[in-house]
Amino acid sequence: MSFESGLAGKVAIVTGGSRGIGRAIVELLAAQGVDVNFFYRGHATAAQEVIASVTAAGGKATALQVDVSDSAACIEAVNAVAERCERIDILINNAGIVRDNLMAAMEDDEISAVLDTNVGGVFNVTRPVIPFMMSQRAGRIVNLSSVAGNKAGRGQANYAASKGAIDALTRALAVELAPRKILVNAVAPGVIDTEMSQQVRDLADDEVKAKILLKRYGQAQEVANAVAFLVSDMASYVTGQILYVDGGFKMA
Ligand code: NAD
Repeated sequence: MSFESGLAGKVAIVTGGSRGIGRAIVELLAAQGVDVNFFYRGHATAAQEVIASVTAAGGKATALQVDVSDSAACIEAVNAVAERCERIDILINNAGIVRDNLMAAMEDDEISAVLDTNVGGVFNVTRPVIPFMMSQRAGRIVNLSSVAGNKAGRGQANYAASKGAIDALTRALAVELAPRKILVNAVAPGVIDTEMSQQVRDLADDEVKAKILLKRYGQAQEVANAVAFLVSDMASYVTGQILYVDGGFKMA
């Protein structure tokens, strides 16, 4: 028996695909033969680098400049992908931000920016994608949650709330979309070596590593592997789950 991903020829949307975990997801899916459309907020140069790296590896990727907190822009971009590719098989809601601060000192915009991007962004992109998946009676949606949704650090009330909402949304959507054979799951990373976690790693390197069973940070590629599993044929009986890719952080 061989392991077949079944991903070749599928069409995907990945949000926040120009760096970090999103970039690793774009590159891994494209390497599996997926036609990947990724949204990026502002870094056109970084987006072009991703396209160049995917193309050099023989894959196919297209970049669209879309701020996921802008609902109208998301609708337009999703429709553009569907028009060009004639279907949407996979959606990876990866775009996310942190604005850490202690709750009493938290500014209004530190709350709204995190909720508008991490939660609002998932609604904005998922809503226009669903009708295409429903008419195909097939689809996979993976949301990037975080270990913080379950076990937050100090100063993460806004971010933890946003990721807790993603866990709840993932389970609710799995229920709603199961009759149309659309599977919805989340991947919850621990501390991954990307720009997002740079500050935490710089400030408290040993302290953070001590809390991780595997005593090291995760790599973006290791998160991408879990995402690829969940959208592949290998996960055809998995829905409504939160898969922790955290080196045992949640348990420690
Ligand atoms: P990152 O900061 O390196 O990359 C995030 C990407 O999202 C960037 O490309 C950014 O431009 C994009 N983005 C942010 N706001 C956007 C918006 N409004 N519209 C479109 N794109 C936007 O972060 P990362 O580490 O790659 O994180 C990816 C996902 O994984 C996030 O949802 C994050 O919350 C989650 N996560 C990361 C870690 C970690 O340790 N790095 C841990 C747990 C969860």
